[in-house]
Amino acid sequence: CGIVGFVGQGNTKDILLSGLLRLEYRGYDSAGIALYSHPFTVVKSVGKLEELKKKVIASKECVFPCSMGIGHTRWATHGKADEKNSHPHLSMNKEVVLVHNGIIENFVDLKNFLQEKGYSFYSETDTEIAVNLIEYFYLKEKNILKTLFLVQKELKGSYALAIMFEGDANTLYAMRKDSPLIVGKGENSFYIASDISAFLDYTNEIYVLENKEILSLSENEIHIYNKNKEEIKRSSTIANLDQ
Ligand code: GLU
Repeated sequence: CGIVGFVGQGNTKDILLSGLLRLEYRGYDSAGIALYSHPFTVVKSVGKLEELKKKVIASKECVFPCSMGIGHTRWATHGKADEKNSHPHLSMNKEVVLVHNGIIENFVDLKNFLQEKGYSFYSETDTEIAVNLIEYFYLKEKNILKTLFLVQKELKGSYALAIMFEGDANTLYAMRKDSPLIVGKGENSFYIASDISAFLDYTNEIYVLENKEILSLSENEIHIYNKNKEEIKRSSTIANLDQ
């Protein structure tokens, strides 16, 4: 299973699909991508990435120029390997879309909380709870970073999340706990992935996101925050794969 994301100048669709292909060795049962648009464009498929690729090529919705997107290969932990359970997952009001690696351990409690607030769900995944929790706080706080800090406090378990908000056309967000996430810096662009191999064709200049950090990326800017909401200055490093 793996996640990928891209923001900036480049062929988002191809970058996501080639990144997922590089993560294939990690194993998966289904896959999907989301492209930033109004509303979000989401394409998913069960089985091999070849199926997803065919669907993306055939889709009339995926032909627009797009500067941001996320992708996922799923190894099902909660809910069977079918299309509705595969990622990316959309929030109920379609304000937020995300991909997730890991397991949200307290998803039953969070689901009850969200149901009381009027939320309903289309899948059996723990992930759909996370995306709706993000939307819930986002609609309440109207501030993305504040939302992600609140969500970080609530989520128990492991996660690497790549997140897009319909209200923010230029910024890709991510956060992680006990699941890996690496950032790659390209020319007027950034990549994220569970594993550096996803974007090595494009760049080897990387930032490692540490546990419980929150990340925002736009074409030319990277911001990393620790769990105390302080921005961290981190330098990039060049990955030396011979070591
Ligand atoms: N727990 C999530 C699910 O079952 C994510 C699985 C994964 O890491 O691929 O959909």
